[in-house]
Amino acid sequence: MTAYAVISDVHANLEALETVLEEIGKEGVDKILFLGDAVGYGPNPNECVELLRQKAAVMIAGNHDWAAVGMDSYDNFNLYAKAAIEWTMKTLSKENKKFLQGLPLTETIANESILLVHGTPKEPAMWHYLISEYTAALNLAYFEEKNCFVGHSHQPFIIESSYRNVISTYYTSRKPRDASRYIVNAGSVGQPRDGNPDASYILFSKDHLQIKRVPYDIVLTQKKMEKAGLPAYLIERLAAGR
Ligand code: ZN
Repeated sequence: MTAYAVISDVHANLEALETVLEEIGKEGVDKILFLGDAVGYGPNPNECVELLRQKAAVMIAGNHDWAAVGMDSYDNFNLYAKAAIEWTMKTLSKENKKFLQGLPLTETIANESILLVHGTPKEPAMWHYLISEYTAALNLAYFEEKNCFVGHSHQPFIIESSYRNVISTYYTSRKPRDASRYIVNAGSVGQPRDGNPDASYILFSKDHLQIKRVPYDIVLTQKKMEKAGLPAYLIERLAAGR
């Protein structure tokens, strides 16, 4: 089976993306899968879209991507996310907007039984959060694949449903079992929210499922955000990982 790296929620943070790609380069990965939210919050939307296009084998859309290109409303975004998405709309090039407009809501890699979705398999266009074992159990009925990768909450986890439908959650790694199914949240490259400011991504192959964390130059990203006039709250939260 192919060795994958799964990344999500880059949010225009170029330093985090470059650092994660460098780490992935050392891991003997065949393909990179991207789960959405290339832009929003951070200071380098164009650079991140272009780098992801070069490096990712498969890409899907996140709510910030669609909001930034007029495909979805951002009425329910908070004040800071709204300010950032309006800045992103002004900053994105025509070509990158066009590219983001073409991103699908879900993708499947049929021969390896993988589903990719930013929010949840149930109603992907509603951008629900999958953050509990309860929601995971509910969503297992909405896809057929063995493995589903999600993002959106910026909090990484590995949820396993055993052959008896017993649900367990892991926060570091898990050796995949033949009879189990998995919902894995890749966490966030560019704005982690689980209390750990290090960028998050997933390594995945037939016998290996692992959450990886990697520190990057947060101060440089913060300086760029300041220069761009992005909200102070968004600048500060990067260092807190919240
Ligand atoms: Zn996000």
